[in-house]
Amino acid sequence: MTEAYQGFQFQSLAGEWRAGGGDETIRVTNPYTGETLTALRAATAADLDQAYRKAAEAQVAWAQTPPAERAALLHRVVAIFDARKDEIIDWLIRESGSTRLKATIEWGSARGITLEAASMPARAHGMTMDSDVPGKENQVDRRPLGVVGVISPWNFPLHLSQRSVAPALALGNAVVLKPASDTPVSGGLLIARMFEEAGLPAGLLSVIVGSGAAIGESFVAHPVPALISFTGSTPVGKQIGTIATGGRHLKKVALELGGNSPFVVLDDADIDQAVKAAVFGSFLHQGQICMAINRIIVDQSRYDEFVAGFVAHTQTLRVGDPAAGDTSIGPIINPSQLEGLQQKIATAKQQGARVLLEGEVDGQLLPPHVFGEVTPDMELSREEIFGPLVGIHKARDEAHALELANATDFGLSSAVFSGDPERGARFARQIRSGMTHVNDMPVNDEAHMPFGGEKNSGLGRFNGNWAIDEFTTVQWVSVQRAPRQYPF
Ligand code: NAP
Ligand code: MG
Repeated sequence: MTEAYQGFQFQSLAGEWRAGGGDETIRVTNPYTGETLTALRAATAADLDQAYRKAAEAQVAWAQTPPAERAALLHRVVAIFDARKDEIIDWLIRESGSTRLKATIEWGSARGITLEAASMPARAHGMTMDSDVPGKENQVDRRPLGVVGVISPWNFPLHLSQRSVAPALALGNAVVLKPASDTPVSGGLLIARMFEEAGLPAGLLSVIVGSGAAIGESFVAHPVPALISFTGSTPVGKQIGTIATGGRHLKKVALELGGNSPFVVLDDADIDQAVKAAVFGSFLHQGQICMAINRIIVDQSRYDEFVAGFVAHTQTLRVGDPAAGDTSIGPIINPSQLEGLQQKIATAKQQGARVLLEGEVDGQLLPPHVFGEVTPDMELSREEIFGPLVGIHKARDEAHALELANATDFGLSSAVFSGDPERGARFARQIRSGMTHVNDMPVNDEAHMPFGGEKNSGLGRFNGNWAIDEFTTVQWVSVQRAPRQYPF
């Protein structure tokens, strides 16, 4: 193995490692210790322009490489995931406040999508179709889009960048990636280093470090990218959709946005199992997951039993140093997110939610907060929480539980517990969301299964065959083999 992945003072711009041209410094800190991990000069619109142009140039030859060559490159990246597993996990812990458990899960997901992407060059295909015109041969060719712009968030930085980067490159595109400013290393620079080590030709992948507020609009509006793949909050996603498709531009967009997952417990559920699922689905990564449980909806006949079990199990979670193997709840990513969560706690109390469990803030650590007798009009129900807080609702019956589950503008993931899997599946099919899990919690992602949301949770699907559709386009090519008879 070559030298360790340390330092990261430079960005990967248009095939070289160099500083951004901006005056602003992006300081990367460890949210648990406050330690500065690195500081980078921010990229400017001129750096971005250079990266996009170089990507467009490099993509032409890349699109013509044989599928086996692109697959082999992705397999080498998988091998680097394995060889550098500890280093990667360490960056996720230090930069994003991931617990060791979450960092290991994220490493596995990012590796998994890379392996899945390695199969895509051989799976992507066109087709022939019969023609209505005598003597015509119809062909549907599948082609890469060209250059893809990727913007990713800080919560699962490595995985949520890689799930666009790996399929896009595998399918013959070039990529310019803008990771979140809280996580430029694990969300971008680490990925650039891995692809470079695997032998990706220079300029096919650039990683731009700069704040979304400063360069976001130029990133999206630039004429080169054919698709903007954005994962992040709903307000920013809507803004990006407007820029990419409204007025001056007509680009494709893939938008993976916020969530507000319901977790429903029907009257015949196994309460012990439901409690374990709900605690994990509410508090993994301090609840900072788009699929995390926002609203727990329990049939009134089992409400007290569920609440007692849920609070008792939550009380056993260890809050603290994310690097320690037995920590379940680590730090909140940054002070402004923490402040927002404290606001949400204050509002929940003000609006009459019953406090079932609370605790004191310590640095960036926020212990789990559980609220009971939550109603659909409260902020805790209406908004995405994105932290270790959860509200429990009481449902009169199954119909009311369904009404509560669907009482949201979001539709990413969801879950339902029932002792009868057929009843659970019937209920699941009436929830309006992209993903619903029976007798499990909503936080699920498999590299070959369609990932994405309905309503305000976004547009498009990632993973498997859906990523092949997302990162390619088709061209109808027809060949007239016998002279066509024209009417005039
Ligand atoms: P965010 O504030 O929307 O930021 C996401 C990314 O967008 C960051 O790279 C950010 O850069 C950039 N950005 C900010 N303003 C921009 C602008 N005006 N133009 C272009 N880019 C801009 O979201 P976040 O707080 O990082 O992440 C949390 C959100 O992501 C939650 O809502 C969560 O549900 C959602 N999420 C969704 C999924 C999913 O798959 N559906 C997965 C994970 C997270 P800076 O960091 O420089 O501001
Ligand atoms: Mg940080």
